[in-house]
Amino acid sequence: MIARRGICLVVAAPSGTGKSTITRRLLAADPALSLSVSVTTRAPRPGERDGVHYYFRDLPAFRAMAASGELLEHAEVFGRAYGTPRAPVVAALEAGRDVLFDIDWQGHRQLRDRLPGDVVGVFLLPPTFAALETRLHGRAADDAGEIGRRLQAARGEIAHWRDFDHVVVNDDLDRAQADVAAILRAARLERARQTGLAAFVDQLLAVRPDAP
Ligand code: 5GP
Repeated sequence: MIARRGICLVVAAPSGTGKSTITRRLLAADPALSLSVSVTTRAPRPGERDGVHYYFRDLPAFRAMAASGELLEHAEVFGRAYGTPRAPVVAALEAGRDVLFDIDWQGHRQLRDRLPGDVVGVFLLPPTFAALETRLHGRAADDAGEIGRRLQAARGEIAHWRDFDHVVVNDDLDRAQADVAAILRAARLERARQTGLAAFVDQLLAVRPDAP
């Protein structure tokens, strides 16, 4: 296999677009892809485990991590702090492993600035705003106030669609998943990313055909 640097695949979307379903499926279908587990100050939802879905920390602990440079990016979303631990990402990229980020537009922007050339951004859109409302109401995890705040925030998130290299409308889960997988697959084949190509081609050309 030809050596290459890992890719940061950022999948951002307004809450209720089906992003977690798509990211879960992508991770299950592709063992070469791992999830960046974020740190957050929000409370765990039922079923969420520390170190698996998030690292759940209080605000002082979060601030200490941010101040010591342990976070690659951090932002406030819905009044809570969220951030990406730096060390696992740097190690993965250097080892040629790809990392999936379920972060918002602010995180995507910071990541692009800090890791130029390593980030592939995908923005998911719902087919209609009504679909977004239905999905949020169907999710028992949040109360009515929280749903209202998330719908409002969804408008703000959508406003940043132009920041992203790729946009996928999730009107069909299977197709949206296939689209994101295709984006990653194409990114893996970009010439500039394949650091081992020159050596490979040298080897290829080292075999000279016999003179006629
Ligand atoms: P939730 O609370 O529903 O898990 O996540 C709320 C929002 O915060 C989602 O849009 C999610 O993508 C975003 N988010 C989660 N982790 C991070 C992070 O580490 N950094 C940033 N910037 N956003 C994050």
